[in-house]
Order: sequence, then structure tokens, then C-alpha cells
Amino acid sequence: LISDITRSMQSIADKKHILISSNFSDDTTSIIGDYDRLRQLFIIFIDNAIKYSPDNTKVLIDISIENNLKVVIQDQGYGIPKEELPYVWDRFYKADKSRNSGGTGLGLAIAKHLVELHNGSISLQSDVGIGTTVIIELPV
Ligand code: ATP
Repeated sequence: LISDITRSMQSIADKKHILISSNFSDDTTSIIGDYDRLRQLFIIFIDNAIKYSPDNTKVLIDISIENNLKVVIQDQGYGIPKEELPYVWDRFYKADKSRNSGGTGLGLAIAKHLVELHNGSISLQSDVGIGTTVIIELPV
């Protein structure tokens, strides 16, 4: 699913010379979930990683299986100011408004809901000028 999404989003990333690189665990497992909703979930994060990064950066996706399926999406983008981090999950919230162009501020609120519907969890770490890392864990 994620290979398929990254392939389809690479052309958007190409416009900013952003390389999406993925590292998949050799282990295999399966999770039970709604394929289309999981697709929507990963698109939200990968789209944000591209949207909120300057040209000539990388988006790294790492998938591993520990107790859970762990998907890490890391960008080298603008980052989110610490004081705004608690609010990014709120509907219609857009951090650092000056940089925003056209988004609705709904993506992360939807993503959080979709992860919760799959009994998973999300965490987000971010540093301004360094980038943002999202960790999504879903039960195997
Ligand atoms: P849309 O609903 O179209 O996705 P959006 O991208 O503005 O609009 P969210 O995905 O909910 O909405 O993100 C909320 C805000 O969090 C964004 O406006 C942006 O300021 C910030 N943000 C989200 N992801 C990142 C990221 N990877 N790097 C930097 N800022 C981010």
C-alpha cells in the first residue's frame, strides 16, 4: 500500500525536487483494517511532508514490525513551532499561517480519527528548521 502511494505521489514531490525514500522491513505481517481509509491516512502524512518542506529535501519512510506495525514518516521541512504542536490535531487548525496556502487544516484531525478507528496511535515530533517526524503504530 505504501509503495503504491509513494509511487503515485513522487510526481508531486518531483516538482519540488523532493525524493521520497522508503525502507521496508523484510519481515511480513498483516493488519486488519479498511484499505481505503489506511490509504487516506498515509496520503495525509506524506502529502504534508511534501507540502511543508522546501525544495531539494527528502522524505524518509521507515516501516518496521515490533509489537505493532510502525510507520515513521520523516521530513526535512519547516517544522512546527513547539507552542503550536498541541493544536495541530484540531479541526481547521493551521500552524504558522503565513506559510499556508490553501489547506483546510482538516488533514491531521481526520488522520487522528482514522488511526483511532484502527486502534492505533500517532505521535508527532517537530523542530522548526529541522523537520517533522510522525510515528504511526497500528496493531498487527
Ligand atoms: P489539509 O486539510 O488540506 O491537509 P492542512 O495541511 O493545513 O490542510 P493539516 O494536515 O491538519 O492541515 O495540518 C495542520 C497544520 O499542521 C498545517 O497547516 C501545518 O501548519 C502543520 N503541519 C502538518 N504537517 C506538517 C509537517 N510535516 N511539517 C510542518 N508543518 C506541518
